[in-house]
Amino acid sequence: MIVLSGGTGTPKLLDGLRHVLPEDDINVVVNTAEDLWVSGNLITPDIDTVLYLFSDRIDKGKWWGVRDDTFSTHEAMKLAGHDEGMMIGDLDRATHIMRSELLRQGMSLTDAIQKMASSFGISSHIFPMSDDPVSTMITTPSGRIHFQDFWVKQHGGPEVLEVSQDGIGEASMSPGVLEALEKEDWVLIGPSNPITSIGPIISLPGMRKILKEKKVVAVSPIIGKEPISGPAGKLMGACGFDVSSVGVAECYNDILDVLVLDIRDEAAGDAVKDMGIDVIFKDTLMSSVDVSMDLAKSIIDIFKRI
Ligand code: GDP
Repeated sequence: MIVLSGGTGTPKLLDGLRHVLPEDDINVVVNTAEDLWVSGNLITPDIDTVLYLFSDRIDKGKWWGVRDDTFSTHEAMKLAGHDEGMMIGDLDRATHIMRSELLRQGMSLTDAIQKMASSFGISSHIFPMSDDPVSTMITTPSGRIHFQDFWVKQHGGPEVLEVSQDGIGEASMSPGVLEALEKEDWVLIGPSNPITSIGPIISLPGMRKILKEKKVVAVSPIIGKEPISGPAGKLMGACGFDVSSVGVAECYNDILDVLVLDIRDEAAGDAVKDMGIDVIFKDTLMSSVDVSMDLAKSIIDIFKRI
């Protein structure tokens, strides 16, 4: 199976999936459009969350960073007048330093991630969506800013006029992604932000065309009129989509076979079905790994019968 992932909702689902599928059968294609160089190192927030999940080190309170991390380096720099603008833990920074050093030595992002995943003892396959730089940019009334500035530094406060991805038109799918797409027929779009996490992956040149040929199941990241967390609502609204599972279905309409909606979201079902997309209702609120495992099992059953 291929899983398209951002850094919060889909990793929660991967936490269940890895207990119901052999880890080696899981190929995760991860958004890189939120990546950013900070204090000399490349931060790949979504990939790191997936790496920490599969190596059992993720902080499940926040769904980013390493559990029980400390922030001494960050605080020391701040005291000395260098405010990084985002909290970076010491152990998390070790990952960033290692990866950036591999890149400086000439390795591709794909190879650097593969090397790190294997040194962390991970047997699932974790691929950056692309080895080329892509950046999600948010246009606000006071200018165009990187997604991380918008979300982390400005806490998602500014009005959003437009969302776009610098570099997307020239970016290629990474070699691992292409190889996985040749082998696998099942593509799961996890419950991630459709605009800033899944949007960049499916906007890579050639990706939608390939996905149209696959069995594609998505899990909605929205219940009712609200995302469970994060800025998906504000960004979907700014991009002209209804903030609901119907809006999610519109984002994926051309590639989607089945949309899994939460059992509390029955109202959205008919409108999604009217778009020619099958609807399955499940408990998608992954408050524990058990809920996540049940959801993962149901998704495998869906793939088997479509
Ligand atoms: P980011 O990279 O940190 O922005 O994270 P993602 O894009 O992977 O995930 C954010 C999305 O996950 C938000 O739109 C949330 O609504 C959704 N999400 C978070 N937890 C859950 C959950 O337990 N169930 C579902 N269905 N969606 C969730």
